[in-house]
Amino acid sequence: MEKMSRRKFLKLGTLCAAGVSAAAIGASSVASAATTATTGTYQKNVKRLKGTAMGMVIDMREIDSEKIAELQKVCHAFHNVPNVPNEKDEVKWIWAEKYVNLFAGETTERLAEKFADKDFVALCNHCESPVCVRVCPTKATFTNDQGIVLMDMHRCIGCRNCMAACPYGARSFNFVNPRDYLDEVNYAYPTRMKGVVEKCNFCAERVAVGQLPLCVEAAGGAISFGDLNDPESKVSKLIAENFTLQRKINLGTKPKVYYII
Ligand code: SF4
Ligand code: SF4
Ligand code: SF4
Repeated sequence: MEKMSRRKFLKLGTLCAAGVSAAAIGASSVASAATTATTGTYQKNVKRLKGTAMGMVIDMREIDSEKIAELQKVCHAFHNVPNVPNEKDEVKWIWAEKYVNLFAGETTERLAEKFADKDFVALCNHCESPVCVRVCPTKATFTNDQGIVLMDMHRCIGCRNCMAACPYGARSFNFVNPRDYLDEVNYAYPTRMKGVVEKCNFCAERVAVGQLPLCVEAAGGAISFGDLNDPESKVSKLIAENFTLQRKINLGTKPKVYYII
């Protein structure tokens, strides 16, 4: 992996020092920060996507392994997720997972056989009752008023309680300096440092300015995003009209990512 030049590193350092992580900001201040971050200029009257329980419906009938790789590429490139080659130190916000791992204990033998070779999309479930938030001693991870579970990297002390608590393996720890493993740096989004935890933020920086998450856009209709509390939203209608699965619902975390299989 090519290391960053000193000039690139200094520029990055300045950005990080100046920028409070968009992923880390609460809902009220995300809008202006994200607008500045994604466009470089401040826009007045930017409206964020509405909703108090943002969730996702993934139609796995429309998604294959290549598509998942594409989703990961756009998400990781935008959010400066490091590409650490060593699997032990891997950092991931969205990834491919086998059906039996995703829905362990909630499947039938027939379904497990049917989907044995198929890759499924995995990401943070932005749980309504997130254990990760409950166990964090510094409030570095928290839920905003749209039900999105976020991280404040500046508060994270790297204790990894949240990783141990999350039943979905949705969080990654930066065992190595992530800035050494970025092929390209996206200066519109903060980078992280060694010793902190990170995960999917439901593209809060985009939601704050009225845009859909990147993976939703890249999936071309196969992933829907919206307010689960609104019965008229597309996600609510999809859930009402289709057979859907959530991961490990018996644990009581109330995941907000639904799968049509
Ligand atoms: S999936 Fe894990 S990290 Fe995400 S909100 Fe639920 S418990 Fe927390
Ligand atoms: S690793 Fe960071 S986010 Fe996770 S519980 Fe510890 S302080 Fe909180
Ligand atoms: S919602 Fe955004 S942050 Fe989460 S996996 Fe999709 S693109 Fe990545």
